Amino acid sequence: MAKRRLTDQQKRRIAHIQQTRQDKMAKRADHALQNAQDIEKKGLVITRHGQNVLIEDSQGDIHLCLFRQNIGDITCGDQVIWQPTNEENKGVVVGRIERKNALYRTNFSGEGKPLAANISQMVIISAPEPEPSEYLLDQYLIAAENLDIKALILMNKADLIKTNEQKNYFKYYQDIGYQRLFVSALDPDSLTTFRQQLKNECSIFVGQSGVGKSSLINALLPDLSIQVGRLSHVSKLGRHTTSSTTLYHLPESGELIDSAGVRSFRLGKIKPYQLEKGFRELSQYFGQCKFNNCQHESEPHCALSAAIAAGKINPQRLAHFKRFLSELT
Ligand code: GDP
Ligand code: ZN
Repeated sequence: MAKRRLTDQQKRRIAHIQQTRQDKMAKRADHALQNAQDIEKKGLVITRHGQNVLIEDSQGDIHLCLFRQNIGDITCGDQVIWQPTNEENKGVVVGRIERKNALYRTNFSGEGKPLAANISQMVIISAPEPEPSEYLLDQYLIAAENLDIKALILMNKADLIKTNEQKNYFKYYQDIGYQRLFVSALDPDSLTTFRQQLKNECSIFVGQSGVGKSSLINALLPDLSIQVGRLSHVSKLGRHTTSSTTLYHLPESGELIDSAGVRSFRLGKIKPYQLEKGFRELSQYFGQCKFNNCQHESEPHCALSAAIAAGKINPQRLAHFKRFLSELT
């Protein structure tokens, strides 16, 4: 279905409404600050509901906070400085500690909005059903490489694997240094190694619908409803729903940031240098072609064509690279 396009007038109206709401919240944050205690604490943003955030302090307690507008956009996973107010479990965020990275989603006017911050690992999930897509995997890998985070290729529903072809799904990616793991959300024993990989990382799970993301999250987070309940209790903004991007603590250290938006994350517009960064095994060939504007088709002295001819790179990866390149130009 084609997305409905907004007219300029509608966009201006939405921007105006957003601005009015922000001004109101800025006043509320400033007002709350007048009643704030004169201490600054560190906190972690667990979730954001519009202009309110839920912050976890170093003891693991949750606080409902407003935030000063001059600190920029804050999002799930951000580390912040906040001041408690005299009301129980309430405060104001007064600063944001510099982020390592942020995952962006594009909004109606084409601007990026941060979905999650300080991620260290992208778990890219596939399964024998629905049919795995190398093209989609390559998109996720471009995103992971550009965020400078680890990418873990997870093949779920290992119990359904029958053929050699299925056993070899994405094998090439192992040869170029990515880790590939087979698991089954239905078999807890199969998850042992995966759990280890999640320790001390802040992970997100991405992949097509139906590959088993919910099933895996339920298997990994036995106390999911308790964690959600603690958030609802403090936010009182209506029940906290898993539709907002939320940071969950895994039982043995490590965090998972999850939401429908994160799960269905897709690569937005990228620049040529970012595309090149996304293909780690091709990096040694970039810039080595005779012509600066080489499209790596049939130009003479093309470093990539030569590498293909010598069997050094995977023709399908190069084909995908060229497809992305043609979409950029
Ligand atoms: P999501 O859309 O990625 O969140 O996928 P779901 O977790 O909803 O799973 C989609 C379907 O696959 C459901 O019917 C699950 O029961 C099933 N499923 C999930 N994991 C496994 C698995 O390891 N093995 C098998 N056989 N089925 C699974
Ligand atoms: Zn070339």
